[in-house]
This record gives sequence, structure tokens and C-alpha cells, in this order.
Amino acid sequence: MPRALITGVTGQDGAYLSQLLLEKGYEVFGMARRTSNGDFHDGRMRWLKVVDKVRIVDGDLTDLSSMARLVKEFQPDEVYNLGAQSFVGTSWGQPLLTANVTGVGVANILEAVRLAKPDARFYQASSSEMYGLIQESHQSESTPFYPRSPYAVAKLYGHWITVNYRESFGLHASSGILFNHESPLRGIEFVTRKVTDGVARIKLGLGDKLKLGNIDAKRDWGHARDYVRAMWLMLQQEVADDYVVATGRTTTVRDMCKIAFEHLGLKMDDHLMIDPALFRPAEVDVLLGNPAKAEAKLGWRSETSLEQMIVEMVDADMERLRLR
Ligand code: NDP
Ligand code: GDP
Repeated sequence: MPRALITGVTGQDGAYLSQLLLEKGYEVFGMARRTSNGDFHDGRMRWLKVVDKVRIVDGDLTDLSSMARLVKEFQPDEVYNLGAQSFVGTSWGQPLLTANVTGVGVANILEAVRLAKPDARFYQASSSEMYGLIQESHQSESTPFYPRSPYAVAKLYGHWITVNYRESFGLHASSGILFNHESPLRGIEFVTRKVTDGVARIKLGLGDKLKLGNIDAKRDWGHARDYVRAMWLMLQQEVADDYVVATGRTTTVRDMCKIAFEHLGLKMDDHLMIDPALFRPAEVDVLLGNPAKAEAKLGWRSETSLEQMIVEMVDADMERLRLR
């Protein structure tokens, strides 16, 4: 039975990846931070009905000793580093925490792998936010980076330290440059989930307005369920490498929002308000990935359209709110 260690197991991708690996017969160790409220902790794994099958182990990415202890004790064949302070908006308010967790945390877990299980295969959750002020219309593995937030700067460090440990120590370490991916388990602060939750509230009479910031921004949105498959495929390759994972289609926040309103028979113009306070200090105006390498080398494809995903998210939020 292959063994996987997942950091960030309580997050969106951690839940979907656990589900995938369990289906494939893995023993899954999920690293979680101790919190004072265990009830919220495993909600996503509960939603996907995997909570009883994942072995939750205690640790923190900022604490090298905990990472080294876990890798030494559990001897994983594959390590997926999904843990991060992952919200761009928060990274301006907490830039140093973001640097410690999202940046230096990667070096901590790489060190743990190098010292305690150097033949383990390693996945780093890199981000399309690293392209920031885009240098090419379609971003691929060779597009230069230009980060536009403390989050993106920290991710850039995580990406390069992964590449560096591969080149310096021969670790099987891959960096997946994933474009935005969403699902009913997406954090409520991200724009897709804020929209699907907000629209469901309006439909149920729990609210009347949805406030957003820059709705002209464009993103290449895919489904987390599809994207965790790409992570796993990267670690099944003979040779470690870096891959862009994207749909190759970009859509404005406005048009994504329209899909959600229309699904529930509501008029967007009656409810949407622009709040200047929600604009960011530096914006990433457009992201559009070129997934040709992942498609050719991994045989990976994005299988869920934006329309299908937004409808799934709205329906899930309607169900959640009705059950409250
Ligand atoms: P989430 O925000 O849903 O999950 C982040 C996870 O990191 C949570 O489990 C969180 O734990 C954990 N975490 C936070 N701080 C620490 C810490 N100090 N030590 C250990 N774990 C910590 O993110 P996603 O699942 O959406 O994303 C997974 C990864 O992929 C992240 O690294 C993200 O930056 C990256 N990424 C995501 C994209 C997306 O569109 N979803 C796109 C590109 C990259 P807790 O529950 O305790 O807060
Ligand atoms: P990001 O690409 O990781 O920053 O993902 P987000 O979902 O947080 O944001 C995607 C885009 O939506 C960014 O360009 C934001 O500026 C824009 N946006 C517009 N209004 C909002 C909002 O109310 N919340 C968030 N999170 N983003 C918004």
C-alpha cells in the first residue's frame, strides 16, 4: 500500500486529493494544525466522506521539527505540500506570516524530506499568481514571472526552492503551477464561492445585495477535482518536472457571476454592487494558462466547464443554506 503525506489536508485541495488517493488504494496521512475548534477542522473531508479514512497527524509548516518528525516516522512514498496562507487578499495584511508559511514553509518540508526520506516524491502547490503582471498572453512553464502580491512573492520562493532542491540534491520534486480552481469546498473569501453563496442567499431571501470589487478581472477557472488528478500524475512520472495546469479559457468575474445569477433565475443588475474597498492594492488583471505540456506529457485534461462548476457550487450552497 503506497503512503502519502498531505500538508493542508483540511483545505479544499487536501480533501479532493485525499479522496483520489484513497480511491487509488493509498494510505493517507493528513497533516493538520492544532486548532481550538475541532468541529470546523474536518468539514471538507466530511463533505467528501473521507474523514474516517484519513489519518490526521499534527504539525505546522513553520515548525521544521514537526515536519521532520512526521516524515521520519511515517516514511511516505509521496509528499504533497498543499499547506499555505492561500488567500491573496490576506497577504497584504499578513505579509510576514504569508512569507513564513507559504514561502519558507516549503523549505522546511523539503529539508524534512531531504533528511528523513530523500527518495520520497514531492509535490509543491505553486500558483498562476506568480505570473501576476503577465508577460505573455498565454502563460506556460517558460513564461517569466512577475508577482503582484506578498502571496505571489512567497509562492515564487516556494517554486524556486523546489526546483533548486531537485537540481541540488536530486530530489524527485515537482512544482505544479495551477491556475485558479474551485469547487463547493472553496474557501468563502474567494470570489467564485463568495458569488455562489451570495446568490443562493439572495434566492432564499437571506440577503439582497452582493458586493464585489474588480469584476473586470479575468481568471482561468477549473475544478479542484480535475486539478488534484494532475498533482498525482506529476508524481507518477519517471522524472520530476514543472507543469502548468489550466483550462486554456479565461472569463471575467462579471461573466462568471452572471452564470450564477442566471442559474437561479435572478437578474444580476438588481443585486450586484461594486465596493471600491474590495479593490486590491495591486491587481492581477488577467490569467490564461497554456496546459499543452500537462496534456501531452501527463495525458491530463480539464473535464469540467466553468458553467458546470458554477452550477454545482450554487446548488451546493443552496443545499447548505437550506440545511442550516
Ligand atoms: P486552502 O486555503 O483551502 O487550504 C490551505 C491549507 O493550508 C489548509 O489546510 C490550512 O489549514 C493549511 N495551512 C495554513 N497554514 C498552515 C501552516 N502554518 N501549517 C500547515 N498547514 C497550514 O487552499 P486550497 O486547497 O485551495 O489550495 C491548496 C494549495 O494550492 C495552497 O498552497 C494554495 O496556495 C495553492 N494553490 C491554490 C489554487 C486554487 O485556485 N485553489 C491555485 C494555485 C495554487 P487550516 O485549515 O488549519 O487553515
Ligand atoms: P485569486 O486569483 O487567487 O486572487 O482569487 P480570488 O478568487 O480571490 O480573486 C479573483 C479575482 O476576483 C481577483 O482579480 C479579485 O480582485 C477579483 N474580485 C472582485 N471582487 C472580489 C471579491 O469580492 N472577493 C475576491 N476574493 N475577489 C474579488
